[in-house]
Amino acid sequence: MNQLVYSGKSSLIQDYILKTEHVFLRTNANEMSCYVCKKGLDDGTSLTAKTLDFKNVMLCEKHFE
Ligand SMILES: [Zn+2]
Repeated sequence: MNQLVYSGKSSLIQDYILKTEHVFLRTNANEMSCYVCKKGLDDGTSLTAKTLDFKNVMLCEKHFE
């Protein structure tokens, strides 16, 4: 019983990760710099994807909230 419930959750999580990665890759292709200050990985900034106004943008550590 427990095992059955666990495997169900597991496949849901896997689907979610796959979809997220797909969106992330598409965002990378368009722009790899902060949406606000335009700093990119070349500046030693770590970027995080965020959905803003129904589109995915990249934000640096300072502007990600
Ligand atoms: Zn920024």
